[in-house]
Amino acid sequence: MDYNKLAEMLFPHIDKTPADYETIYPPRQLPEGAKVTRLGPSPTGFIHLGNLYGAFVDERLARQSDGVFYLRIEDTDDKRYVEGAVETIITSLDFFGIDFDEGVTMDGFKGDYGPYYQSQRGEIYQCYVKDLMKQGLAYPCFLTADEIQAIRDGQEANKQTPGIYGEFAVSRNLTMEEIEANLAAGKPYVVRLKSGGNPDPEKARIISVEDDIRGTLTMPENFQDVVILKATGIPTYHFAHAVDDYLMRTTHVVRGEEWLASLPIHVELFEKLNFKMPIYCHTAVLMKIDEETGNKRKLSKRKDPELSLDFYRQEGYMPEAIREYLLTVLNSNFEEWRIENPEAAIEEFIFTAEKMSNSGALFDLNKLNDVSKDALLKLPAERLCQFMKDWSAEFKPEILPLFEGNEEYLEKILDLGRNDKKPRKDLVYGKQIFDFISYFYDEYFTIQDAYPENAATDAKIILEKYLETYDHADDQSQWFEKIRTITDELGYAVRPKDFKKNPDQYKGHVGDVSTLIRIAVMGRSQSPDVWEIQQILGEERTRARIQDAISKC
Ligand code: GLU
Repeated sequence: MDYNKLAEMLFPHIDKTPADYETIYPPRQLPEGAKVTRLGPSPTGFIHLGNLYGAFVDERLARQSDGVFYLRIEDTDDKRYVEGAVETIITSLDFFGIDFDEGVTMDGFKGDYGPYYQSQRGEIYQCYVKDLMKQGLAYPCFLTADEIQAIRDGQEANKQTPGIYGEFAVSRNLTMEEIEANLAAGKPYVVRLKSGGNPDPEKARIISVEDDIRGTLTMPENFQDVVILKATGIPTYHFAHAVDDYLMRTTHVVRGEEWLASLPIHVELFEKLNFKMPIYCHTAVLMKIDEETGNKRKLSKRKDPELSLDFYRQEGYMPEAIREYLLTVLNSNFEEWRIENPEAAIEEFIFTAEKMSNSGALFDLNKLNDVSKDALLKLPAERLCQFMKDWSAEFKPEILPLFEGNEEYLEKILDLGRNDKKPRKDLVYGKQIFDFISYFYDEYFTIQDAYPENAATDAKIILEKYLETYDHADDQSQWFEKIRTITDELGYAVRPKDFKKNPDQYKGHVGDVSTLIRIAVMGRSQSPDVWEIQQILGEERTRARIQDAISKC
């Protein structure tokens, strides 16, 4: 077989050679040890936590080593393309603080190793396919879907490994005349790799691959004649991965563990293409504890809204919290570091792939909420205020006017109890925060809890006395002294323990009286300090609320 002739016949329009691409995409000039990483999402419109999780690893590895992190859009599967998906990828990741040095941007791409859309790299892939063909390492395969199915059925019946390999790779043996006749008849074809692997498990070569998360992986070599170029002339993931990651000079390929199974294919492709292998980092799948069964399972797009990044944006999780949480899931030593360095910026933490879990990263919303509470505590009120404005503008525009122009009021609310010795950790995420502070806004103020049973019958008189003696200028202890006076005058115990000892002598205790006041002013029995809240509400609003509560008694 004249392989040169075959290659020229199939790819007459390809005039560049691999050597040309070596010149166009030379090795990067980077400091020793610099890592080049990439994110290669498909533009399916669904951007999920797994993407962010991987992106975060990529970003940390590149940034920590003064390397490069780039965005490549893997759009070879046009059936899955969704309009606007690239914008969604960029804006969602940007929201969580992930930005790229190079690659696809909102209006094209930047960097010297492009194009960064796989759909624009057709000629590059075909050049390498042509080159393999010239060496007799790839061949056109004219098998139809029905023929492939028949081969599979036969393999199944004979308990053989399914696939196109060895004796089943019938197109390997076509003569030039047969190929020419097929082409002349307009038969569609794919290009397959002519694998050098041995299908006999006894004789298969054992290969090993270094994985920065999993250590040395050993596995039998590939023996399948995998498709490298589809009938449309578009490469498969395997081929595009090898060509792109080599030419874009990627040093570390971070991707999900679902790709482990095809690693032998990639090893053979890198070998046959004469490319240096990157270092792989196969990340663990994201798992959660199923609420119903109590068992660990994979996060599912269908069942778990928290898999979608949109969920976090809509709920109003702050990027600072998500980043902090992702690190706790990603690196086993992060939490310990955080305890030792409570004030440090997370960028100071040295992230290592070796410390990553390889057996399923457990995702837990409750834990995220806990991490978020601590993360938000470290943020100044101005940042929280700005975030609440941005978040509501996008997801709850009806409340934006409450905040706009009233920033000082909102900042005081958000800071409530946060600067105490034992600071309150009330704030978790946008929706919850608004729910938590909504009573500060008259439009959203409602009485949610019932007055305490012991004091309910005295509600009117308690509130009347409270209003009568209320002086907005009182400091906290003067204010509380007045509550004790009312408590005592109306036959309640000033000290709760007196009431516990002699419940028959009192109607209730100071806690019942103050809770009643709390509910009248805030609508709820649980809240930060009442005196402080009233100081923020202001005299007029405080009095109006008490007056209103009296009128409803
Ligand atoms: N396009 C692939 C995906 O979305 C990327 C895998 C990789 O990072 O190599 O799963």
